[in-house]
Amino acid sequence: MDTLLKTHNKLEWLHPLNGFAERQSLLRSSKLQIQEFRFGPRKSHQNWMRNGCVKVTSSALLELVPETRKENLEFELPMYDPSKGLVVDLAVVGGGPAGLAVAQQVSEAGLSVCSIDPSPKLVWPNNYGVWVDEFEAMDLLDCLDKTWSGAVVYIDDHSKKYLGRPYGRVNRKQLKSKMMQKCILNGVKFHQAKVIKVIHEEFKSLLICNDGVTVQASVVLDATGFSRCLVQYDKPYNPGYQVAYGILAEVEEHPFDLDKMVFMDWRDSHLKNNKELKESNSKIPTFLYAMPFSSDRIFLEETSLVARPGVQMEDIQERMVARLKHLGIKVKSIEEDERCIIPMGGPLPVLPQRVVGIGGTAGMVHPSTGYMVARTLAAAPVVASAIVQYLGSEQSLSGNELSSEVWKDLWPIERRRQREFFCFGMDILLKLDLQGTRRFFDAFFDLEPHYWHGFLSSRLFLPELLIFGLSLFSHASNTSRIEIMAKGTLPLVNMINNLVREKA
Ligand SMILES: Cc1cc2nc3c(=O)[nH]c(=O)nc-3n(C[C@H](O)[C@H](O)[C@H](O)COP(=O)(O)OP(=O)(O)OC[C@H]3O[C@@H](n4cnc5c(N)ncnc54)[C@H](O)[C@@H]3O)c2cc1C
Repeated sequence: MDTLLKTHNKLEWLHPLNGFAERQSLLRSSKLQIQEFRFGPRKSHQNWMRNGCVKVTSSALLELVPETRKENLEFELPMYDPSKGLVVDLAVVGGGPAGLAVAQQVSEAGLSVCSIDPSPKLVWPNNYGVWVDEFEAMDLLDCLDKTWSGAVVYIDDHSKKYLGRPYGRVNRKQLKSKMMQKCILNGVKFHQAKVIKVIHEEFKSLLICNDGVTVQASVVLDATGFSRCLVQYDKPYNPGYQVAYGILAEVEEHPFDLDKMVFMDWRDSHLKNNKELKESNSKIPTFLYAMPFSSDRIFLEETSLVARPGVQMEDIQERMVARLKHLGIKVKSIEEDERCIIPMGGPLPVLPQRVVGIGGTAGMVHPSTGYMVARTLAAAPVVASAIVQYLGSEQSLSGNELSSEVWKDLWPIERRRQREFFCFGMDILLKLDLQGTRRFFDAFFDLEPHYWHGFLSSRLFLPELLIFGLSLFSHASNTSRIEIMAKGTLPLVNMINNLVREKA
């Protein structure tokens, strides 16, 4: 299979600061291509059909993508004043869901916080989906703009499974507004810039920004997502990649029930007339993830669950176009699109280290699913209360000692063991072809809801995860068991080795 992401080096445009200079020239051409591909002039309209719908080729589909989809929140932000030379208690680098959640909670306890982001008012670009119970547990139901009473998984053309677990789409504008309002109320100051460097002194750190401003802070939190701006890694970075292309589209009609979202559609009959695509999909399969909002408005995302190297975006788009054609989905217009490249698994950052982290930068993405937003929001109070507790008057730790305690609370031994197990899951998924993947999910969604819910939502810990594994094995078909044994033995040995090496 052709791949965009042939080596991990080629992907490192996701990490703009680590080794930035050396990588610039290497990556400039691919970066430019991506920008041109996305925002290039749309002069040709020859792909339009007379009825106003688009002819089904991926280039024709891309013609419908709007030039820009950037939306800003209308807030008057209290800005950080560098001339005062204040040392804030906490500087949060990155204003995604992870960073803002911690900024909000630390400032609630009365500590001074500066949030640094190049576009602090920008509505987050990603289309987040979560299980409703995850948001309910955090009292965030008001931040879902659409919920479905359940989900459906198409295993193949002959079998499908209904999942009786409500699913929701995050109202990212509402969630960000809510967090920003609280931050503003609690006195958080904002600085609009990119951090390019950190210098640590014994009791404080200096963050150097690309506008020449220096922000001084007792604690620095890196929440820069997959760009991993400040947090250090000391092992080779070898994640799997989830790659997906999604569109929020107005369509003539679609075949899906409005009260169920499509969690996974592994059918491949749309590829029967395209030998090449069918073969590549049999080896490294992609599925459709869809959120139907109404009979003519739907979010459609063709997704490669995990592959190493990741599947090329163009392949994904081509498969999506073939699928839409087969399903009779005619796209009239596209409100927005998203290109998703999520590194999954791989090593954790150096534990502990002076800069603390949360979210993508801190290895928190679920290694078997690519989900993270609910897990990160649930972890924010852990990081926030650790910072408040250790910086506060009772413990009054500083520098490396403080960071070390925060890392311990974020990645205690049971969470690290859980992650090892999830990485084991990813290693098996990486080896499965389409048939193997179908057999795997056939058995997975037959498990007791406690187990598959718990696995997907990072609620199972090691003793239970082993029961989950055995239960999955016992639900699997004989072919699947042989496959799991053949392909899972080496990952299993690796996991056991890593578990033995983990120290409390
Ligand atoms: C397209 C896409 C769709 C996804 N969908 C889902 C989903 O449906 N469900 C789910 O659970 N997870 C999903 N994920 C995975 C994950 O939840 C998201 O990536 C999530 O946004 C990560 O949150 P974060 O706060 O860690 O990082 P981000 O949201 O990436 O935020 C990082 C912030 O840091 C800023 N930043 C970067 N570098 C610097 C710097 N040097 N200085 C200052 N600021 C900087 C960026 O501008 C950005 O605002 C998705 C990911 C992608 C890419």
